[in-house]
Order: sequence, then structure tokens, then C-alpha cells
Amino acid sequence: MIDKDILLKNYTTIVDAMNNAQDKHKACLLAVSKGQSIEKISLLLAHGHRFFGENRIQEIQKKWPELRQSHANIELHLIGSLQTNKVEDAVALCDVIEVVDRESLVDALAKAEHKLNIKRQYYVQVNVGEETQKSGVALQGLASLMHYCQSKQLQVIGLMCIPPEGVSPSPYFALMKKLQRHYGLPKLSMGMSSDFAQALALGTSQVRIGTALFGERDL
Ligand SMILES: *Cc1c(COP(=O)(O)O)cnc(C)c1O
Repeated sequence: MIDKDILLKNYTTIVDAMNNAQDKHKACLLAVSKGQSIEKISLLLAHGHRFFGENRIQEIQKKWPELRQSHANIELHLIGSLQTNKVEDAVALCDVIEVVDRESLVDALAKAEHKLNIKRQYYVQVNVGEETQKSGVALQGLASLMHYCQSKQLQVIGLMCIPPEGVSPSPYFALMKKLQRHYGLPKLSMGMSSDFAQALALGTSQVRIGTALFGERDL
């Protein structure tokens, strides 16, 4: 059983914290529903929330066609790394793709947009901590990738990052804010359950929150 009261209380607590942190440019809450049941997601949809993030194409295929049938105006973001062979499904199923990090992926996305005759919106994911195991474009490759996206007519609206674990995320968030300004982008996607307060303080436009909202993942 899911406890509806707990979920809606978490939601209110997070939205209040967001409103208190930023008075002028309010950030959006991307509800990260990976590993969460249709029942829990439906509770948020019934509450009026429309803004969700998932990280696996297979899971999106299982959960979202049904949910989209019963609720209009859902905006689904892909926030997990994307293999080139899944790109067409990603463009078909997701409104916004936040994980653009290499030229081969840009090529595949542009091709899928053309084939399906759909335009999507994108974030470039930055490996802001320069960690070998993490996805995201290296800082030194960002300018060239931004340029490449433009040459392929992908509509890049922002930057996304997952900062290194175990150290303060704030210097990384501050750097991301600087990069967002440098490229004149409207959006910035940073801050998760454990560090969204810091991301809000440094001017993110969107936080991506899973467990602090839904509880532990159960799928
Ligand atoms: C899972 C995930 C989140 C949410 O993580 P929580 O710690 O559950 O809030 C945010 N962003 C990305 C890219 C994720 O994969």
C-alpha cells in the first residue's frame, strides 16, 4: 500500500522549501519517478503535477503510454544515459532529453527528429566534476559540443549535471550557473534529494527529486 498522505506531505514540503529559497525566478520540480509505481505517480498526477523525470527507456515504455492516456499535458524528461540504439524511442516518448553529451548522440537525435518529424528540447549534460566513470561532456569539450548541437539544429535549452558525491556540491553548482550564463541558456537542471537546497541557492531553474518525494524506489 502507498500512503497518499505521506506522498502529498513530501510534495508540499519540497514545494514550500523551493518557494522560500527563491522569491523571483521560481524553479520547477521535476518529480523523478524512476523505480516508482504507477499508483504513486497517479497520486501526483491527480494532485495536478505534470512534470516528471525517468532514466530508462524500457521503464518509460512500460509506464508512460498508459499514464499519458489518462492525463493531458504531461512533460516527461529523460535524465538517464542514452544509448544510440534507443534514441528513436527516446525522441518518440520523451518531451525533453537532458543527457546530450557527445557528437554521435547529437547525430542520432537529429536523425530521429527528422525521421519522426518531431522537434524536442534538450539539455547538455556536463561532467562537472571531471569524473572518469560519469556521463556528461568534459568541461573542455562543452563549447565544441554546444556548437555541434547548433549545427544540427537541436534545440538546447539548458545544462544539466550530477556533481561528485561526498564533497560539497556548491562549487560545482556555481560553476554550472556561470556556464549557463556564458551560453545564454534559459534552463539549468541540478539538485537532487540530498542537495536541492544548495542548487536552489545557486539559482537552478529545475531540481530533480526522487526519493525525498516518493520514498525509496520499489521497482
Ligand atoms: C535518480 C536520479 C535523480 C533523483 O535522485 P534522488 O536522490 O532520488 O532524488 C536525479 N537525477 C538523476 C539524473 C537521477 O538519475
